[in-house]
Amino acid sequence: MLGKQPQRAQVPDQQKQRQIRRPADRYHPGVKQRVLLVEDEEAIAEPLTEHLDREGFQVEVAATLSQARRAIEREMPDLILLDLMLPDGDGRDLAKEIRRTSDVPIVMLTARGEEIDRVLGLELGADDYVVKPFSARELAARIRAILRRGRPTERRSPIEIGDLVLDPAARTVTKAGEPIELTPREFDLLHLLMANAGRVVRREEIMDEVWDPHWFGPTKTLDVHISWLRRKLGDDAQEPRYIATVRGVGFRFLVPEEAGAEREPETD
Ligand code: CA
Repeated sequence: MLGKQPQRAQVPDQQKQRQIRRPADRYHPGVKQRVLLVEDEEAIAEPLTEHLDREGFQVEVAATLSQARRAIEREMPDLILLDLMLPDGDGRDLAKEIRRTSDVPIVMLTARGEEIDRVLGLELGADDYVVKPFSARELAARIRAILRRGRPTERRSPIEIGDLVLDPAARTVTKAGEPIELTPREFDLLHLLMANAGRVVRREEIMDEVWDPHWFGPTKTLDVHISWLRRKLGDDAQEPRYIATVRGVGFRFLVPEEAGAEREPETD
């Protein structure tokens, strides 16, 4: 465990045994993936670096925001692990800066009880977060899941439903021809729902596909992302045109003829 108190997450056996089903097309054997670890606490940075190094990542540590900025300017890493509280400022500011120009995956390293910070971190475009103390092994698994999800390279044709067009290859979404800015996570979420339009996609299925195959625990973050997505699409949870909530089950992307025809209150 890295950080202060030990903490053991309960992972149901079936989840432990679940195999990773995503294609391995984004693995590049022999090429180490570069992780920038922005963390000022040596007690965390050192053992984590060692562990990730053993797991085959190339890790660079930045102890301050300015070091991190220099490292990023030199070369954008494949993934950034970002502490929130740094000696020369707030990790969230750096996340905001990065998001203006890059969709590099960002994983926030948060301290316990920073509940609001977590949500803010995700709103700023972070892909995931871990709460200190965390296990290096679990973090490495999450990093792999995020990098595997990566940025799709395979050619897939755009999905067009009503006035929305989602292009998986270009990772763009337009509504009536106007581009909609989505975070990588929101994009993946919308992609999954649109690819299954008309069908209910269960919450567990979404967590599995859009978050990671080892997801366990609360899925509140899903509701938060759905509400951001609705806001960006100009959708109304009470009278959905696009995303309908199926209470206790999941979400369904509406095909045009049924859009607006149903009223399903949003679960909260
Ligand atoms: Ca810190």
